[in-house]
Amino acid sequence: MSTIRFKAIKETFGRKPLGVTSDGKRSALYGTSVFNEMVMRQVLSKEAFNSVMSAIEGGGNIDRKLADEIAAAMKNWALSKGATHYTHWFQPLTGATAEKHDAFFEPINNSQAVEKFGGDQLVQQEPDASSFPHGGIRNTFEARGYTAWDPTSPAFVYGTTLCIPTVFVSYTGEALDNKAPLLRALQAIDGAATEVARYFDKSVTKVYATLGWEQEYFLIDKVLASSRPDIVLAGRTLLGHSPAKGQQLDDHYFGSIPDRVLSFMRELENECVKLGIPVKTRHNEVAPNQFELAPLFEEANLSVDHNSLLMDLMDKIADKHNFKVLFHEKPFAGINGSGKHNNWSLATNNGVNLLSPGTTPTKNLQFLTFFINTIKAVHDNEALLRASVASVSNDHRLGANEAPPAIVSVFIGSQLTKVLDELEDVSKGKLSPQEKTDLKLNVVGKIPEILLDNTDRNRTSSFAFTGNKFEFRAVGSKSNCAKPMTVLNTIVAKQLQEFKKEVDGLIDKKGLKKDEAVFNVLREYIKSSKKIRFEGDGYSAAWEKEAEKRGLSNKKTTPEALKASVSKKAVDLFEEMGVMNSVEIRARHEIELEEYALKVQIEGRVLGDIAKNHVIPTAIRYQNTLIENVKGLKEVFGSDFKKLAPEQLDLIEEISNHISEINSNVNFMVEERKKANKLEKVELKAEAYCEKVLPYFAKIRYHCDKLELLVDDSLWPLTKYRELLFTR
Ligand code: ADP
Ligand code: MG
Repeated sequence: MSTIRFKAIKETFGRKPLGVTSDGKRSALYGTSVFNEMVMRQVLSKEAFNSVMSAIEGGGNIDRKLADEIAAAMKNWALSKGATHYTHWFQPLTGATAEKHDAFFEPINNSQAVEKFGGDQLVQQEPDASSFPHGGIRNTFEARGYTAWDPTSPAFVYGTTLCIPTVFVSYTGEALDNKAPLLRALQAIDGAATEVARYFDKSVTKVYATLGWEQEYFLIDKVLASSRPDIVLAGRTLLGHSPAKGQQLDDHYFGSIPDRVLSFMRELENECVKLGIPVKTRHNEVAPNQFELAPLFEEANLSVDHNSLLMDLMDKIADKHNFKVLFHEKPFAGINGSGKHNNWSLATNNGVNLLSPGTTPTKNLQFLTFFINTIKAVHDNEALLRASVASVSNDHRLGANEAPPAIVSVFIGSQLTKVLDELEDVSKGKLSPQEKTDLKLNVVGKIPEILLDNTDRNRTSSFAFTGNKFEFRAVGSKSNCAKPMTVLNTIVAKQLQEFKKEVDGLIDKKGLKKDEAVFNVLREYIKSSKKIRFEGDGYSAAWEKEAEKRGLSNKKTTPEALKASVSKKAVDLFEEMGVMNSVEIRARHEIELEEYALKVQIEGRVLGDIAKNHVIPTAIRYQNTLIENVKGLKEVFGSDFKKLAPEQLDLIEEISNHISEINSNVNFMVEERKKANKLEKVELKAEAYCEKVLPYFAKIRYHCDKLELLVDDSLWPLTKYRELLFTR
């Protein structure tokens, strides 16, 4: 039994890093696998090029004839890169990416063949979509789904396949994926933010949401990982005693990167750069064998695609380097988990970051406008934002002894707090000349200076302002950024629309000057959104109490948190903003709950199997050797044996107790699973899994982990934490 574990450790021991080829200048590799603007300029007619560019900028349609031309050029380019197949690349609601490859190759008779790819294949495809989750949408409408080209995210060659980023929608128009609602939310924020930005700069015609994610992950030796059924089937460990040394010495964070890991990272970065993913930062994270990778920020839709592509790429390259990547938010108990901070901002077509203070009072009033509106949007929709990052695996982080908490709050730092405090005192209606000068010189005018030395950082806040962007830290390492980005951009878009209405009202009806109107509305927002702002320790019990007093939600489990996503308020908001209709919203909710229940079910089965088929038999074997030992002592020493074997006797009893606890708890868990499975309504099923099944995990684990400490190491069947976490 344990031979598996020892063979695995032996095989791993002293593994050498793999060499990395093609380690030339990164800049020369950048985007070489992408059908980007530069390539299009070279291979497309002016007309075709312009039509793609205007589709990118304005979301317009591409003419059928031009689509044929673009497809032909794309095919030739892809063939020159070694591609043999093409695929519509999309993001179904499983959160992963999906692809179905078709060959360019097509026989024209029985002796001749050609490479074929036309406008039809580029623009629209009909994948056999029946086994993607659809939350009843396709059943309700008895419609099939199709994928449609998203020209705003460039096609790329991945391996030997031309990948065309697409949305996935039903024939009745409902989104069956994560990208379609995101694109609609980005359109909403573009419209709303452009109008507001034009208060300050008339030359603004478009606003882009920008996203820079920071991907955290664990790298575990492949053979060791595959020796653990829980890692193989659930992506995390379901049991395992903490090692003597964990992360308490803080010696891993920013430490030197192990050679084998570095060789993986170098190859990964090379591939990323070719695919146009602008990777920039890499470092060790807090926990042993935990790392982080972050690119430069990009337009949000492209950035989301790049993160999905990256996760796929990481799996593949890790495998080559004999590693397994764990994206799970909490793969090891007692050790830091992984997140995916989403750094978010808004940028104009002129390249101005709207959340960056400038050097003039106008620039700073613009900054304050977007800054305060974002805070207000988060304030009004904190529960919905929390719901956007809810998942069974992220529940192990949010609200479960790990930063950030399940409570959404906004951190802005002491300096900006002071600015908002001063703005709160701006008088109502028209401003006196003195007040105007004061605001210009002492409040708004001082912002760039104060931000430059604004060094306070709060790591426990879920939504923090970090100088020129907000950082949403509650996003899980495994999740698709499209979900939180869809919600964030929708709520800010809605808020900016409200703002515009109110400011215009004050200008038109009360005769205020634009700046006065802006100050007046912002003042009210500062007051009415105060309760979302928190500068203290988001980790403390005191904050939980305080947040409750403030009326902020604190939903620690996915089934609870997800309720906000189907509230009347949420449905009205998404419908009004044209991001999702109620059918799409409910379908998503159903899929998420179903996924929750299924994942807990799988974990429960795996845990039951390990406990009953691996742990208990091993414990019995060890107990038998103890019994043999006691018997022998009795034979040799007669009635004196008890004095010589007190430890053994205690151990025999202790082992029996743990075995019986494990056994009965596994049985209880199985009973609860059976009951949960009988529930028809998915809400009830997810709740039952959460409240009735999941609590047994900790009980079963406790006794298994105790046995791990008692049983002879050479018999223990499962690769231990110290082996998983400290083998490099
Ligand atoms: P840290 O948060 O660790 O201090 P940085 O401030 O350098 O690190 O930025 C972290 C991430 O924020 C990077 O991925 C970066 O690309 C992203 N980022 C920086 N500016 C913006 C922006 N305007 N919009 C979106 N993301 C941004
Ligand atoms: Mg960060």
